[in-house]
Amino acid sequence: MSKLDEFLAGERHDDVALFLTEAYLDSQGKLPKMGETVESGYVLVVPGDDGRRAFASGTGMDAMEFARGAMNERGHVSRTLDGGECPEADADDAGDHEVEFIFAFSEAQNEEVGGLYERGEVVHAYAHCACGASYSDKWVVGEETETGVQPGGSEPVEGSE
Ligand SMILES: [Zn+2]
Repeated sequence: MSKLDEFLAGERHDDVALFLTEAYLDSQGKLPKMGETVESGYVLVVPGDDGRRAFASGTGMDAMEFARGAMNERGHVSRTLDGGECPEADADDAGDHEVEFIFAFSEAQNEEVGGLYERGEVVHAYAHCACGASYSDKWVVGEETETGVQPGGSEPVEGSE
């Protein structure tokens, strides 16, 4: 099992996952070569502090600030963290809406919080689009198709909480 597989299975709550496309890395430069190459880019699963540093050096942005900015806009993020569907794409079909990078972390199940958190471990994913928009998705591990924003959708299927 790769680190990414473990992360996606909710087994690495202390780590963060970063995805960056090859094109973005080629244009922006520098991320320590410590991740795994996937089909459309590069994925890094590392302890939180290292991940936030890597995110800052790879994107020039603060990870938590980026996440806060992306939080209010919902859009589908691939459950394997290697793509997404920009919510701005409908209004501006001519634009380039490729995902440039994704930042993700997971949380342990927490029955006291209720909602999604009661159902299981939750993966939070924040994506940045080539058009400049940022958006977020979150889903329950093991219920990837029953929670969060599904492909083609714009709202979480479990309803807002
Ligand atoms: Zn876009």
